Amino acid sequence: MSDLLDSPVLVLTDLDDAGAPAPGALELLTTASHLTGSGVLALALADVGPQARAALAGAGATRLLVADVGQRAALAGVTGDALVAAARAADVGLVLVPGDYRGREAAAHAAVLLGSAVVADAADLEVADGVLRASRLVLSGSWTTTLAIRPHPGQPPVVAVRPGGAQAASGPLEPVVGARSLDAEPLEPAVGAAGTVSLVSRERAAVAAGPDLGEARTVVVGGRGVDGDFALVRSLAEVLDAAVGATRVACDEGWIERSAQIGQTGVSVAPHLYVGLGVSGAVHHTSGIQGAETIVAVVDDSEAPILEMADYGVVGDVTEVVPQLVDELVRLRG
Ligand SMILES: Cc1cc2nc3c(=O)[nH]c(=O)nc-3n(C[C@H](O)[C@H](O)[C@H](O)COP(=O)(O)OP(=O)(O)OC[C@H]3O[C@@H](n4cnc5c(N)ncnc54)[C@H](O)[C@@H]3O)c2cc1C
Repeated sequence: MSDLLDSPVLVLTDLDDAGAPAPGALELLTTASHLTGSGVLALALADVGPQARAALAGAGATRLLVADVGQRAALAGVTGDALVAAARAADVGLVLVPGDYRGREAAAHAAVLLGSAVVADAADLEVADGVLRASRLVLSGSWTTTLAIRPHPGQPPVVAVRPGGAQAASGPLEPVVGARSLDAEPLEPAVGAAGTVSLVSRERAAVAAGPDLGEARTVVVGGRGVDGDFALVRSLAEVLDAAVGATRVACDEGWIERSAQIGQTGVSVAPHLYVGLGVSGAVHHTSGIQGAETIVAVVDDSEAPILEMADYGVVGDVTEVVPQLVDELVRLRG
């Protein structure tokens, strides 16, 4: 029984607007370094500065491939083409990408071109008998399935890992101590049919003005119970330095942009702290918060399903509870 893969793993390593590795990218690299004994290749789609290179090495990357595609990094097709070029150049056995919308699309695109398989929404990665095992929530989070994914140099499977799912079953992931900085190896991906789609503009949506929802450590969510008062939701989010999310009902009502929707047909989040305000806890919503470590709910219905999964529940009116909570947090923070 081997507990490490014997082929290299390629990791799509997203950078933020300032050129620093996204926290999710570092987690994914560290996860990969715990899965394989044959090296972890980071693929970046923009130039990587010395500080960022050191961070990638510290997270477990042993090589860095750079396909500088400029603004086209936002396009899933171009990202997929870059993954294919990197996978072929380095003969990797497995490819890991972040499980956001673009990552999932890029994974499908790359898997088709590589003639391999794609697995979306993977979590809790571990290796048993040289095979990667990944669990995945299906049917609105009511079932967990476990898949065995066999690394295959030449036709590497592409796995999209859900936010917060990059946690090896072996326990907490430690950064690599004393890792050398990496040299950037340039890569020229051939952009094929994906070139028929081009980027017209890219603007940060108003809801994304705070921390990014998918990456946020703290998320405050407004449901139908806030009755359109997202200023109330934001007042708590601000004091907690949290991202603002919403249920589908709140988005359907037009109280907040659709991009804030969390759940089966929205974004999946995996924060340290999730605070639901006036959220009942329907399975379509809670399937998107399975990775949350601590769940707090403020809801006026003591029978609301969210209270069954909450670590801390307050049964009360959000218009009374939230201002008190904000005042107390402000007081505690001095
Ligand atoms: C195919 C499909 C996909 C879906 N995908 C999603 C998805 O991705 N994300 C999603 O969120 N939903 C999704 N839904 C909808 C989902 O089933 C629920 O309808 C929705 O999540 C409920 O949102 P809610 O909790 O805001 O509203 P409700 O279920 O109406 O809950 C509101 C809660 O607030 C409480 N409340 C009311 N007033 C107050 C107050 N003043 N103070 C405190 N509490 C108060 C109520 O008692 C209630 O418990 C989907 C549905 C379908 C069929």
